[in-house]
Amino acid sequence: MSLDILLSRLDGVRHTGQGQWIAKCPAHADRKASLAIRELDDGRILLHDFAGCATADVLAAVDLTFSDLFPERGLDAHHHPVRRPFNARDVLRCLAYEVLVVLQIANLLLRGGALTESDHARLLLAARRFQSAEGIANE
Ligand SMILES: [Zn+2]
Repeated sequence: MSLDILLSRLDGVRHTGQGQWIAKCPAHADRKASLAIRELDDGRILLHDFAGCATADVLAAVDLTFSDLFPERGLDAHHHPVRRPFNARDVLRCLAYEVLVVLQIANLLLRGGALTESDHARLLLAARRFQSAEGIANE
């Protein structure tokens, strides 16, 4: 992520150690660097403004959100979902089977078969899976 993006949007950034930086807080008129930034080994990013700004306000000032502080995988250490965690190619692989389901039902109808309740429910499930995929696939 986002550590590079975060650092590029802050002023007065100084690297102070392994995985540690300080910078001017973007959420108040900071004359000295009062914002501490820490990248943990698991990829999470911690922010603390020693002048007292809330982390949400610091993030908003640089146009980021809490999800930008977590590494790009399904769940963070606190089991919160991460935005768009999945590789678009993997999403397409997962949806390939859904296309076959839709095709099979279409073939059934083409041969004059009747759509059963369970076929219809399965089509709705496929549609929901396609719709949800757009929200979880990353670039
Ligand atoms: Zn501040």
